[in-house]
Amino acid sequence: MTKKIAVFLDRDGTINKEGGYINHESRLELMPNSSKGIKLFNENNILTVVCTNQAGVARGYFKENLIQVVNQRLQNLLKKEGAYLDDINYCPHHPTVGSPDYQKDCNCRKPKPGMIEKSAKKLDIDIKKSYVVGDKMSDVIWGHKMGTKSVMVMTGYGRGEYEYHRESWHDKPDYIAQDLLGAAKWIIKDIKKTL
Ligand SMILES: [Mg+2]
Repeated sequence: MTKKIAVFLDRDGTINKEGGYINHESRLELMPNSSKGIKLFNENNILTVVCTNQAGVARGYFKENLIQVVNQRLQNLLKKEGAYLDDINYCPHHPTVGSPDYQKDCNCRKPKPGMIEKSAKKLDIDIKKSYVVGDKMSDVIWGHKMGTKSVMVMTGYGRGEYEYHRESWHDKPDYIAQDLLGAAKWIIKDIKKTL
């Protein structure tokens, strides 16, 4: 059996609207084309894996349990539109801030490899043939460090990072997409090209 291809998706600003810390599930809202993008991955047998840093837990803004509630709401909203996520990872830690349970130099906080490695093992993913999609340059760099191709979306922080910071980028996204649907279309084409 060949290993599977996955897309490792940032959550806030990439799938749902970026609006600061999501400290109540009602604050999670899908962006217009997100479910269409995820559905396209689903239909093309590309695994969809969310990887999200949620240091609001370490900072004491909300309890870890809320992340699970919010992620369940995300799955429910996607399901209504015919899409699903294969796996969801989150990191509640912070290296320098927080209560003893959450202040640590963990292996899961992006740009550390933990979240990708965990899902890759669980779902038999070929990381080097996979993709990262995010709204921040730090997501792009994280993917490249892990050996994936990286797509940056212009939703969330994306447009601001692109317009005001791209001159100082030491790395470049493999593709810049307007939104998650644009990212999905490019990734599917790119996979077919390399088959
Ligand atoms: Mg983001």
